Amino acid sequence: MKRTLLIIDDSKAIRTQVTQIFADSSLFTEILQAADGIEGFKLLVNNNVDLILCDIEMPGIDGLKFLAMLQSREDLKKKPVIMLTSHKDINTKVRGLESGASDYITKPFEPSEMVARLRVHMQIKILQDELRRSNQLLLELAQTDPLTRLCNRRHLYEKLEVEINRCIRGGNPIALIMADIDHFKRINDQYGHQAGDEALLRVSDLLLEELRTYDLAARYGGEEFCLVLPETDLNAAIEVAERIRHKAELMKFAAPMNEETLTISFGVATFEDKEGTIDELIRLADDALYLAKNSGRNQVQSMNN
Ligand code: GH3
Ligand code: MG
Ligand code: MG
Ligand code: MG
Repeated sequence: MKRTLLIIDDSKAIRTQVTQIFADSSLFTEILQAADGIEGFKLLVNNNVDLILCDIEMPGIDGLKFLAMLQSREDLKKKPVIMLTSHKDINTKVRGLESGASDYITKPFEPSEMVARLRVHMQIKILQDELRRSNQLLLELAQTDPLTRLCNRRHLYEKLEVEINRCIRGGNPIALIMADIDHFKRINDQYGHQAGDEALLRVSDLLLEELRTYDLAARYGGEEFCLVLPETDLNAAIEVAERIRHKAELMKFAAPMNEETLTISFGVATFEDKEGTIDELIRLADDALYLAKNSGRNQVQSMNN
């Protein structure tokens, strides 16, 4: 595994000494050097750095200013920084720790202490990375429908909340498309539940193929789906629904469903020049879907505001 240390110190002798100390240990696979805060910051942005060893007293951007720069960047503020200080000055150490540093090492340092301390910080960094990864995975699981891998209903509501607020602030339209497979019960009855599941997956793939990256597709219920299309007006949303409806109709299935045609009914609703709640938007789309079902299925109906 790649492990990178960044050493920032205006003294070349210190940088060389640190590099030599770690050349003999297996703690880091790469050591980057910078002579001041700016150079260090550039290296940090362009490399995947695990730990930073940073001198406090440097001309120009010193250690404390460097820490302040890290704190202003969401992606960098969690990077572990160990201050290097010749100060016996408690105030500087405290200010550094309060500014986001994880620890300090006082110069002159013992090589064995330097290695031991950075080993501890590297272990903490590895654990934190693992925790972040598993939190991310849990978040994805909590937002995902297990069968189709589309967003689940909970995440749909979260997205709608964000987008409706954005719509209210910015005055941009938002569209919601509700899609329900026609006579899906018959598919299950005729070909079995597993074939039904596969048909649901095919429909999910079709939805994903037809959407833009900032749209969202969710499984709303058994064979019902919702599409959220930010910055989309009614006519554009109807076009999207019509395109999906047509492609679904043309979809070919493997045996035993090879003779089967699957159709979908759509209800489209938008907020364009009116503010409204999530429930109102969903109710409008649901009403439009109900109309599509009652008007013969395999069609798109819409409701505006
Ligand atoms: P309509 O055109 O009115 O929508 O008819 P429909 O048969 O599609 O609607 P209905 O609501 O009566 O039935 C939906 C069916 O969807 C019933 C249920 O067995 C099936 N279904 C729901 N979730 C799943 C699933 O996860 N897998 C499979 N295979 N079938 C499901
Ligand atoms: Mg210095
Ligand atoms: Mg149905
Ligand atoms: Mg249904």
